[in-house]
Amino acid sequence: MQADMSNDLRGWRLAALPCLAVLGIALPLTFASHCESYLYDFRAIDLLPLYATAWLILAAVVIPFWMLVTAGLLGLETLRRPPGPSIVAVIRTLLLTLTAVIILATLIHCLRTWLGTFGSALPLSADAAFALIVVISVFVAVTARGRSVLGAVRPLAVACTIVGVLSLISLPFFGWPHGGAATAAQSASADTAMPQHEGGGPAGPMQTSATIPATGPGRPNIVILSIDALSAQHMSLYGYSRPTTPKLAAFASGAVTFNRAYSNGNFTTPGIASILTGTLPWTHRALQLAVWPRARTRVNSLPAVLSRAGYTMGYVSTNAYAGASEQGFGQYFTFSRTDRLGHVTLCADGLSAYLRYVCAASELAPLEEMEGLVARFRPAVDNEEHDPRLATEPALHWLATVNRSKPVFLWVHLFPPHSPYAAPTPWLGEFDDSPQDRDVAETEPSWGWIQTQLSPEQVYTLEARYDEAMVFSDYYSGQFLQRALQLLGPNTAIVVTADHGESFSHGYGAHTGPGLYNEITHIPLILKLPNETTGRRCDDVVQQADIAPTLAALAGVPAPPTWPGRSLLDACAAGPADPAADRPIFTMNFEQNPRFAPLRTGSVAVIDGRWKLIHYMGRLHYPFMPALHDELYDVVADPDERHDLATQQPAVVQGLLHLINMELAQHGGRVIPGSPTPAPMPTPPVQSAAVQKPGDMSGGGVAAGAP
Ligand SMILES: [Zn+2]
Repeated sequence: MQADMSNDLRGWRLAALPCLAVLGIALPLTFASHCESYLYDFRAIDLLPLYATAWLILAAVVIPFWMLVTAGLLGLETLRRPPGPSIVAVIRTLLLTLTAVIILATLIHCLRTWLGTFGSALPLSADAAFALIVVISVFVAVTARGRSVLGAVRPLAVACTIVGVLSLISLPFFGWPHGGAATAAQSASADTAMPQHEGGGPAGPMQTSATIPATGPGRPNIVILSIDALSAQHMSLYGYSRPTTPKLAAFASGAVTFNRAYSNGNFTTPGIASILTGTLPWTHRALQLAVWPRARTRVNSLPAVLSRAGYTMGYVSTNAYAGASEQGFGQYFTFSRTDRLGHVTLCADGLSAYLRYVCAASELAPLEEMEGLVARFRPAVDNEEHDPRLATEPALHWLATVNRSKPVFLWVHLFPPHSPYAAPTPWLGEFDDSPQDRDVAETEPSWGWIQTQLSPEQVYTLEARYDEAMVFSDYYSGQFLQRALQLLGPNTAIVVTADHGESFSHGYGAHTGPGLYNEITHIPLILKLPNETTGRRCDDVVQQADIAPTLAALAGVPAPPTWPGRSLLDACAAGPADPAADRPIFTMNFEQNPRFAPLRTGSVAVIDGRWKLIHYMGRLHYPFMPALHDELYDVVADPDERHDLATQQPAVVQGLLHLINMELAQHGGRVIPGSPTPAPMPTPPVQSAAVQKPGDMSGGGVAAGAP
């Protein structure tokens, strides 16, 4: 290898360097650092087409780049008056710098991944790391010694690139679905790959199309309306004093309202994944924001089951984190519309129909970065209130035009009342006409209000703005439900629910984090059965993971045995009480636990009858939270969870902890020995309870809301 690459860095050779860095260094290194995660979801043999898919997509971007730059350089050489050597030197330096940036950024990324596996972090912010990378890269590009290092790396990059080319041979055998979207849904895409294991537990049987009966006449249409961050504790439907949900209350007058429904997670990704996969976060492992449920739960998901049963599938979401594509369900839908938050390009419905492993491949850093770059060039969003009509209108248009020869499944996800809470007029100011916190910037709360030391008055105003956003959302939800029923007719089942709630108490703002209080986890669940016109209330403790078995039962298809929930079709019906109604329900947050590692760091709550234990485990890192101790509440008598009874009821705590322990043991986690140490919660600096809460439900009670 030459000590200095200057002499052979002309034309195509020079332009090839950044491309080789991407295909021959960045991809293999990040793939290697990601393999452990992939092996939880795929067989070892699937890694080959997965790698080939990532290689193919990256090559589709870098090869045109290479050709363009080569053509540009050749063009410069053929000019009648060639530009001075300085311009060529600048281009050469830029390309060498880019090459070094790609390699160094990859090394830093892999180092972070590796340290994260061991629970450590790089003592360097992302911005500082990038600045450092650029400085070093410029040094590499302009010095002979630096270029000689790049030269030494090049044969390795060439060899790895050739291996990538060879991996393409596997695609027709593993990664190439047969035909377009329709057949891709049948073949269940990459998801048909059998995982090797699941969190230490035995792998359950996979649902196959052979066990699903063919489409029959009379199957109901199904609509799920999920509303982001809609806390049942703030809905007038559930007894809140402000008239926040008059339209949903009107809808519920012809449906079953579940008074005690809980989300299984406390933010968007795990909540939506629990609804769609019918499993809990410790099974589907969508534990962080931008990750998918694991493959085995997607192939057994509600969209998978219904699409195989012959439903025409559509969804619209105004939060991409609650989008079927972003959650890896794209191939099950023939109509989709995702808007606004997040970016979804590669793991899109159409592409995943042709390349089985594209969703998994797009998790790799080079592809993620590429998506991020593309997202930057997208037009800016001009609707800051996240108008619900952005979702409801395309959805209604689809319902009005879709071929109705088959039953229809439609999932719509609305963003408000998620922050920012600045609803437009006439809703803005309805509950608090003060000039405070009226725009988008002011009403974007961080989850840790302790961190920002909000005064009780500020919390009060934010809560009022949230309630205003809820009426805004309720108004368009009501319109949508009415119109959808008109379009689909009475043989339609509708579920209205939320991915999680929103907190304004316990010194704890918004959602995510370790908090599993009722404001965040007590969600609405309204089930309107086909032809149902009378309303009733049900006090059974139910969960998001019950929605999938309920809808599968309605569609007349068997629920996969891997779904732990129960069908709610007969819940609270006349007759002997269902013994399944007495089961404990779990909700959790494991955002600080590595996604596929044993579950040791997070919080789990169990609701058993009137009791709710919130258990904190592992080394949680929330520097602005007070010390966290296990908390016990009587959520029937004290739905706002103001009186921690952990020290008064040690036997109850131990019993509930045992329930958590048994579940964790099954799902690759454990209660840390020595924990818990029930102790009174220190008084946090902010207590919105100090403010007169308009929605104080004590006395009314969640369960007591039943007529
Ligand atoms: Zn959400």
